[in-house]
Amino acid sequence: MNPACTGSECRGCGGRYSLDETTGPCPDCGHPLSIVYDYDRIDGERFGRGERDDSLAHFDALLPISVRDLTPLRVGHTPLYALGEVDGVRLFIKDESGQPSGSLKDRASLLALAVSRSRGATRVALASTGNAAASTACLGASMGIPTATFIPRDAPPAKLAQARCFGASVFRVDGSYDDAVHSCRIVCAHMGWTDRTTAVNPFTREGKKTVAFEIAEQLPSIPDWVIVPTGDGNISSAVFKGFDELRRIGRIDRIPRIAVAQASGSAAITDAVQRTRRGEGGELRSCLGQTRADSIAVETPADGALAVQAVLRSDGDAIAVHDDAILSAMASAARRWGLFTEPAGAVSLAALHALCARGTIRPGESVVCLLTGSGLKDGSAALAYTAEPTELPAGVLSPALLAKIASP
Ligand SMILES: *Cc1c(COP(=O)(O)O)cnc(C)c1O
Ligand SMILES: [Zn+2]
Repeated sequence: MNPACTGSECRGCGGRYSLDETTGPCPDCGHPLSIVYDYDRIDGERFGRGERDDSLAHFDALLPISVRDLTPLRVGHTPLYALGEVDGVRLFIKDESGQPSGSLKDRASLLALAVSRSRGATRVALASTGNAAASTACLGASMGIPTATFIPRDAPPAKLAQARCFGASVFRVDGSYDDAVHSCRIVCAHMGWTDRTTAVNPFTREGKKTVAFEIAEQLPSIPDWVIVPTGDGNISSAVFKGFDELRRIGRIDRIPRIAVAQASGSAAITDAVQRTRRGEGGELRSCLGQTRADSIAVETPADGALAVQAVLRSDGDAIAVHDDAILSAMASAARRWGLFTEPAGAVSLAALHALCARGTIRPGESVVCLLTGSGLKDGSAALAYTAEPTELPAGVLSPALLAKIASP
């Protein structure tokens, strides 16, 4: 373990725990735990500046455990594309679609698997229907660690293809996602497995924060905004934590404003932020959790409280956009820049347009949009939003058809 990592704290009740005691949510109040470091012991000048390194071990000084030589797969080190002026702002896209399993979740899985291995667990399990399951199974396969996923009754089968192909054991729970979370917890406690369910496992945030470290390295100056596609709120809280830690170790002197981007049918965090700002109390209320962007369809955000804090403490914002705007942003990213993302990944771009139109993001500001997952994850969304092919007969083409092809 990293000697500068001193354990964890609970923002719900103020409890503090040693690293050994940090295995799940707060035992006293059930809130997600946050890993803490003795920041004075970390050399801000040297952080991330050692010999070039293709793995997240580059950031070992601010991780709970070293991730050196754990997997031959390349996790992280994703490209940051400068796309010039869009909507009057300087736009950058942090493209996570090229991760080993095709989404940002690989950063989280690597850390959860690393800690699990150091503790001798025989298997890593989680409740998920989508990217987290695919990611855990993928990196587990590469590290020789068996994995299991608990899926709810109505899980879309296409989302499981990766997890099954990577060899995860799949258990279908006859109930909702919350029921699957519950079954996973019981089985893990009984079997001594590690529970990697998002925000239940305190180490997922530690992995996801590395995306902030990379953005800080890749840009000559800290951007004004980072826009984060958000469901449970774990990426949003992680992006804030990453920049905040860079500030604490003296590496940067200001934190970008975090914009939480949600779908309007699944906007519990946005709703809580807006109520807080109106002085109406910021407790999280469950919502329907319905959107075509299934990776961010969440009824009760597991890391919602810390995501709300990320917005408030960074003086950021939260916004909900309709599915139509999300799908249209997805199609336009592909046509305009050759970037193929699943619907959830395009929420940041749809939110960018809305925040610029509203005047929240101002002309000339620099903005990083996270593109969190690959378009190959959800081919049906792309097909539904693009033109049908033009039908042609086999064989000789008539002059009328050739004329039609010439002017589509
Ligand atoms: C999981 C996921 C998100 C949202 O992350 P949260 O931590 O649940 O807010 C966004 N986009 C993609 C592609 C994801 O897989
Ligand atoms: Zn607590």
